Amino acid sequence: MEDDNEGVGTGGTTTASSSGAVTGSTTTGGGGGHKHSNLSEEIQLERPLLKAPVEQLNKLFRNTQKSLEKEMTVLVNTINDMNKRKDTITKDEVSTTIDKLLNKMNNLKRKIEETKNEEEGHLKRMKARLDHLKDANTNQQNPHQRDHFNSVRVDRVLIDYLLREGYYNTAIKLASTGKITELSDIDLFVSSKKVIDGLTKHDCTEALAWCNDNKSKLKKINSTLEFNLRIQEFVEMVRQNKLGAAISYSRQHLSPNASTNMKEIQRAMATLAFRKDTSCERYKYLFDEMRWTDLINQFKVDNYNINSLTLKSLLTITFKSGLSVLKTESCGCTESRNINCPVCDKDFKKLAKPLPISLQSHSSLICRISGEVMDEHNPPLVLPNGQLYCKNALDAMAEANEGVVTCPKTGKSFDYSQLRKAFIS
Ligand SMILES: [Zn+2]
Repeated sequence: MEDDNEGVGTGGTTTASSSGAVTGSTTTGGGGGHKHSNLSEEIQLERPLLKAPVEQLNKLFRNTQKSLEKEMTVLVNTINDMNKRKDTITKDEVSTTIDKLLNKMNNLKRKIEETKNEEEGHLKRMKARLDHLKDANTNQQNPHQRDHFNSVRVDRVLIDYLLREGYYNTAIKLASTGKITELSDIDLFVSSKKVIDGLTKHDCTEALAWCNDNKSKLKKINSTLEFNLRIQEFVEMVRQNKLGAAISYSRQHLSPNASTNMKEIQRAMATLAFRKDTSCERYKYLFDEMRWTDLINQFKVDNYNINSLTLKSLLTITFKSGLSVLKTESCGCTESRNINCPVCDKDFKKLAKPLPISLQSHSSLICRISGEVMDEHNPPLVLPNGQLYCKNALDAMAEANEGVVTCPKTGKSFDYSQLRKAFIS
C-alpha cells in the first residue's frame, strides 16, 4: 500500500511536477478567501470614486469664479467711466448703459443659478458615494451588505469599461437599472464624447475648447495636447495646400511654444516643402491618419489624469490583479495546467501574458481531471503508470465504467483495484 507510491516524490511542488499533476495556488487571502478579506482595505482602493466629483466641483468653482470676476470688473469699470464723465454724459446714454448693465447682471444671475444646480449635482454624487462606502464599511460583517456592495462594484466596473469604450447608452442603461447613476461618472464621459467625436471627424475645435477650459490643470501635468492639436491643424492646412493660412497660423499658435518645442515646430514647418505625398519618413508621419487616433488617446489619458480617474479601465485593473495572484509556473502548459485555472483560459491568457508569475508560499495539488484540490478529504490516487489523479474523479470514472479507469493523459485503462493511495509529506 504505502510502499506503492513509486513515482510520487515528497514535498508539494516536486511531487506535483514529477507525477504530472498541477501545482495549484493556495494563495493567502486570495480566491476563496474573499469572505475573510478586509473590506476597509478594499475601500482604500476606491479613491477615484471620491476624487472624480471633487475634481469636477473644483473645476466648476474656479471657472465660475473667473467669469464672475470678469463680469464684475466690466461692471465696475463702466460705472467708474460714467462717473468720470458725469458732467458731459447725456441722460439717454446713462439710461442705455444702465440697461445694458442690468441685462448683463441678469445673465450673470442666470448663469450662477445654473452653476449652483450643477454644483448641487456634484455634491449629491459625492454624498451618495460616501454613503455607499460608509454603509459597506459599517456593515462589513453583514453578508447581505457585502454581497450588495460587491454586486454594485461589479456594475460600476462594467459601467466604467463601457464608458471608456464608447458604449454610452449601454452604460447609462446599466447605471439606471442598478440605480447607481450617482456612483458612475457618466456625465464626465458623455461630455468628453464631443471632443472624441470631433477628433474622429478630424476637427480640433472641441478639443481646443476643452484644453482652454482645463488650461491650468493641463499645465500642471505638463500636457502637450494643445500643442499637438495646433501642429495637427497646421499640417491639415498644408495638406489642403492653404500655405498662406498655414504660415499665419503657425505665427499665431506655434511660435508661442518656440522656447520649449522648437524641434517639433521646425519639423512641422518643413512640411511646407515636404508635402503630403512626400516619401521622406521624417515628414511623412506628420500626414499619417494614425495621428488622429494618437490625439484621441492623448486626450483620453489627459482627461483621466486631470479628473483623477485611473488610466486603465477598472475592469482591466481588476482582471490583471486577480490573474497576477493566480498565475503559476504551470500556466499555459497544456500538459500540466489546471482545467479550472482562469489564467489558462483562452480569453484571459492574453491579459495575463505580461504579468509576472506570482510568488506562492504554499502549493497544493490540483487534479487534472476535476480541477479539485487533492487533500486528506479527496486524496490523490496513483495509477500503475505513475499518473496521479484525485479520488473523487477516479471514483466517478470507475462507477461509470464498471470499475475501470482510463488515464486521460496516456489513454491506458486500469482496474480500480490497481490504484494506490499516494502520500504527500
Ligand atoms: Zn494556469
